[in-house]
Amino acid sequence: MSARILIVDDMPANTRLLEAKLRDEYYQTAIARDGFEALLVAAEWQPDLILLDVMMPGMDGFECCRRLKADNATRHIPVVMVTALGQPSERLCGLEAGADDFLTKPAEGETLMARVRSLVRLKRLLDEWHARGETARALGLGSDPFAVPSVSGTRALVVDDWDISAAATMDALPKEGIVAVRARDGREAMTLVQDETFDLIVISLTLAGEDSLRLVSAIRGGSRTHETPLLLLAETESRDQVVRGFELGASDWLTLPIDENELRARARNQIRRKIYQDRLRSDLGSALEMALIDPLTGLYNQRYLRRHLAGLVESGQSRQLSVLMIDVDFFKRVNDSHGHATGDRALRLIAETLRANTRVFDSLARYGGEEFVVVMPGADRDDAIQAAERLRAAVELAEFVGPTGQRVPLTVSVGVGCSTGAPAAPEALLHAADTALYAAKAGGRNRVELAALT
Ligand code: GH3
Ligand code: MG
Ligand code: MG
Repeated sequence: MSARILIVDDMPANTRLLEAKLRDEYYQTAIARDGFEALLVAAEWQPDLILLDVMMPGMDGFECCRRLKADNATRHIPVVMVTALGQPSERLCGLEAGADDFLTKPAEGETLMARVRSLVRLKRLLDEWHARGETARALGLGSDPFAVPSVSGTRALVVDDWDISAAATMDALPKEGIVAVRARDGREAMTLVQDETFDLIVISLTLAGEDSLRLVSAIRGGSRTHETPLLLLAETESRDQVVRGFELGASDWLTLPIDENELRARARNQIRRKIYQDRLRSDLGSALEMALIDPLTGLYNQRYLRRHLAGLVESGQSRQLSVLMIDVDFFKRVNDSHGHATGDRALRLIAETLRANTRVFDSLARYGGEEFVVVMPGADRDDAIQAAERLRAAVELAEFVGPTGQRVPLTVSVGVGCSTGAPAAPEALLHAADTALYAAKAGGRNRVELAALT
């Protein structure tokens, strides 16, 4: 997924390097040379992330960040403050100005990319969250289920045997309202997670006399903790350990000695991300459900989908937006040969298969009888085609057994409609997807076709 990143820096030498690194990873970039330009570009271009230099003439990074966070048009965009090495006071100012994360200059490639990926993902969840809230409000269902969650009152487990660094962590987290509980070793940590629920686990990689990575792995494997965000604390020189920690499923890391403000930002981001993810996945509350959920499949219905799509367009997300229209092939035959009840069961299986293969920030709806639609914010043509192909293949592989025990093959045809960088109308996207679907049917079914917007 190609995200847009705005780099704000007055030194061309700095931005060239950063831009090259980001472009290597297929991010789209734009550059602003000072704070004023940054405000304009951010509001107009709506980047997914802003990398903001602190030291700039005219308006410094703090003031620029404050203004970005004070403006409704830009406050949802994550801001990473790029600070000089060894300036903890700058980070406190940054946090107070509303910064979402920090990077130290010169930004080292791997660190930068991990940070960028993590924040872009958080931004996508946040966008989807806001869009669903808008949809709920537009349908007159109230906004309560979508109030922005606070991390206050969440709980963190801190696994650290070293008193000084543990004290710093235990001190910093409550400043975000996070309740911190300490464990001195892996065994104590494993006991605590059996009985208590944590929203974040912080693990020092320098635990004496034991392998911290083994603990990381045990926590990732635990049924109560396999989705809990994991933050690693590591010495600067133990990069290899951090990389292995990531392979085992850690979410982020911090270097020792701990910078309190950096820890607060990281902890907050990780916990928020988890909350958004859980809520997006879970049911939306019964009022919402009755009006917007299809009773047979549990998916959103067409009413919801249309409103949601309109909301995405209104909030400026239609420049990069894809729609998949999915229709079951020869479904009438399933009903005719095996009965309507079996047909219903097949629709439920297909719905479940589609759901299991869509990202949390995509919306999946039953559009009509045996037709489904997926709305994919931020997805370009290639992302959409790839997703369509994945869904098509997943349905083809799903095992559906008829009333007499024989396997009944099920396939779908998929039409893809994509916006092309310019704002697109919901009807135009749906129409394009529908045209493509028609082509997929005509081309033999069980296939994916793309239609350009006309
Ligand atoms: P095509 O490959 O061209 O899409 O062929 P098809 O048979 O799937 O298309 P057609 O539109 O002719 O038939 C769709 C069928 O889907 C007819 C209808 O009975 C069935 N259907 C629609 N909604 C439901 C439902 O809720 N339950 C069941 N069991 N069948 C349904
Ligand atoms: Mg049909
Ligand atoms: Mg059909």
